[in-house]
Amino acid sequence: MLTRIILTEDEIPRQWYNLAADLPSPMQPPLGPDGNPISPDMLAPVFPMNLIEQEVSQERWIDIPEEVLEILYRWRPSPLHRATFLEKALNTPAKIYYKNESLSPAGSHKPNTAVPQAWYNKQFGIKKLTTETGAGQWGSALSFACSLMGLECKVFMVRISFDQKPFRKIMMETWGGNCVASPSNETQAGRDILAKYPDTPGSLGIAISEAIEAAVTDPTGQTRYSLGSVLNHVMLHQTIIGLEAKKQLKKIGEDKVDVVIGCAGGGSNFAGLSFPFVLDKINGAQMEIIPVEPTSCPTMTRAPFAYDHGDTAKMTPLLPMHSLGHDFVPPPIHAGGLRYHGMSPLVSQAIVEGLLTPRAIPQVECYDAAVKFARTEGIIIAPETSHAVAAAIQEANKAKEEGKEKVILFNLSGHGLMDLTGYDKFFAGELQNHALPEEEMAKSLEAIKDLPKPPLNKTGKW
Ligand SMILES: *Cc1c(COP(=O)(O)O)cnc(C)c1O
Repeated sequence: MLTRIILTEDEIPRQWYNLAADLPSPMQPPLGPDGNPISPDMLAPVFPMNLIEQEVSQERWIDIPEEVLEILYRWRPSPLHRATFLEKALNTPAKIYYKNESLSPAGSHKPNTAVPQAWYNKQFGIKKLTTETGAGQWGSALSFACSLMGLECKVFMVRISFDQKPFRKIMMETWGGNCVASPSNETQAGRDILAKYPDTPGSLGIAISEAIEAAVTDPTGQTRYSLGSVLNHVMLHQTIIGLEAKKQLKKIGEDKVDVVIGCAGGGSNFAGLSFPFVLDKINGAQMEIIPVEPTSCPTMTRAPFAYDHGDTAKMTPLLPMHSLGHDFVPPPIHAGGLRYHGMSPLVSQAIVEGLLTPRAIPQVECYDAAVKFARTEGIIIAPETSHAVAAAIQEANKAKEEGKEKVILFNLSGHGLMDLTGYDKFFAGELQNHALPEEEMAKSLEAIKDLPKPPLNKTGKW
């Protein structure tokens, strides 16, 4: 039986898929400070125009530049595995497949967008990129991509992860990136937060404010900002994952998938795997598509679909998305990459439409799943990824109860070899389940109560 399905380089998808072209109810536009929709040129100090064009594009298919493909070949196409050992351990009739994104140089799916973003910036004449990073995967991925492109890279890393994960900083430095803890003294946004909360663990929202400020205040005008998730063009670049997976499933004769699963922080690895399948669902296919989040940061399962800023200092436009409020400082659970207050507007609109069924899982169940996965399939996965594995196990158990031979597909978004402290705490029994208390959520939602409200547009078909 085939357990590892490989594509050759000449079988790689040559176009990205843009879900914005097919969403049954159109996306709401981002709004500026005056409450009116922003125009593309208002984003020009922050992003290069070629990426802004992708951000607002309604084209269904967008060509992947040949030079970008040549870099992606270093680790793509990525293998699709059948998790036969996990299936056996669960004694399930379900077939479990996973796309292995842990094989990239940075160890996750993030280089899939870091490389094209650095490439488009370089084409536009940009010399330096700034960004934020939570657990450190995005900072590593962008440092890697910038090193290939000869760009400078400055990374603001959320304080708590900076302290907990020193090796990530060394990875960034190895690729030539410059990484500082956020909030830092290098920006006004950082200094303001430090003055108010000197001991803050930081948050992605704060780090984003710092990175944007550092980009737009560069007097040479040759610095831009780069975001590793949430935005439409990031979702677009990641769809290569799902497009490859479709070819691989076809290769081994699977013509129907019943359940598609990904963990979701800002939504990019989930969108990357699932959006090509969302297209099938829009066209009538029956399947369940599940983005999974931690119960401690319940953006999709409990927070409203609202207009909110992507960052704490309110420098970004208002995006229509599920949001816990831009002041949200998440509890320090170990799934660093899943602690963002917002969610991709494309993923959010697909949730509103009913195409996706989000799920929240507590962290102890996730680590249980991660250990089971390591002891059957062998790969030590990232704490973020454990949410996808936990959901896949839930679905496999459900298939067993129902006696159905379902096909389950999930995204293995990254390995956990830089995140072993979380495993250590789990083995020591120090990890607890934490559901965000209702009062805390109400408090953090105060920040958005006076912002405009997007309409909940849906066709009612799903
Ligand atoms: C960053 C990261 C995530 C969360 O980000 P998304 O944009 O939601 O994909 C999940 N898994 C891994 C391994 C990551 O590095």
